[in-house]
Amino acid sequence: MKLKLVLGKALLIAAALSVLTVGTPYMAADSSKTEWSYEGATGPEHWGDLSPEYAKCSTGLNQSPVPLMNQGKKTDSKMTFHYEAFVPTIVNNGHTIQVDVPEGNYALIDGEKYNLLQFHFHTPSEHTYNGKLLEMEIHLVHQNEQGNLAVIGMFIKEGSANKSLDLIFNNLPASQEEPVTTDEKITLNSLFHKKSKFITYDGSLTTPPCTEGVTWYVFDKPVKLTRTQIDAFKDIFPNNSRPVQPLNDRLLYKGTLKTH
Ligand SMILES: [Zn+2]
Repeated sequence: MKLKLVLGKALLIAAALSVLTVGTPYMAADSSKTEWSYEGATGPEHWGDLSPEYAKCSTGLNQSPVPLMNQGKKTDSKMTFHYEAFVPTIVNNGHTIQVDVPEGNYALIDGEKYNLLQFHFHTPSEHTYNGKLLEMEIHLVHQNEQGNLAVIGMFIKEGSANKSLDLIFNNLPASQEEPVTTDEKITLNSLFHKKSKFITYDGSLTTPPCTEGVTWYVFDKPVKLTRTQIDAFKDIFPNNSRPVQPLNDRLLYKGTLKTH
């Protein structure tokens, strides 16, 4: 039997503060932010009108997600992942399930260090690939010392279980009450395949305030989860996906994951 430790409010607040200091909007614990959702009067078409802080959601020209295609110029961007085993803190923030990652996990992108802050999930996928939505999408949110964000996106499709994600999907918190942590560690290394292809472009956060200047790297090879795991997520969040945004003048670049 897995030992579930339920952490107190202090940790929830600490987590919210740590996220706020780096300026990412993923925690719903900050009640001063204007409410938004994925449907109706506070849905994606209205985000830009809900608050002046969310204006970029409707006026921005470099918004995410976008339609991705297996085409475009090649980039020599080099990426290596330095992920260690860690105890995940699993949070239901009202918009998604987010896993907070302790210090020590980072990506080197063209020699620049980006720390992995958290990762979370959307269903259906936010980016489309060759015109199609996939079942789900993972976003691994990284940030460098200057505060610039690099997000690694991965599609999820139905299949066999994934070692890295099993522990998360067996412990999804259905409510926002308390973060859940486990007595086991996870590593994210089995998410990556050698020589994976990715598409990179200049985009934004896909949730209010839709801040731009986010560099996206979306891998083409989906990660697999079982039908039961995908359905368990959909029971909590049936739809938490922003529709694709116009590409405008932006170009997509294709790269290959290069490991040392
Ligand atoms: Zn996301």
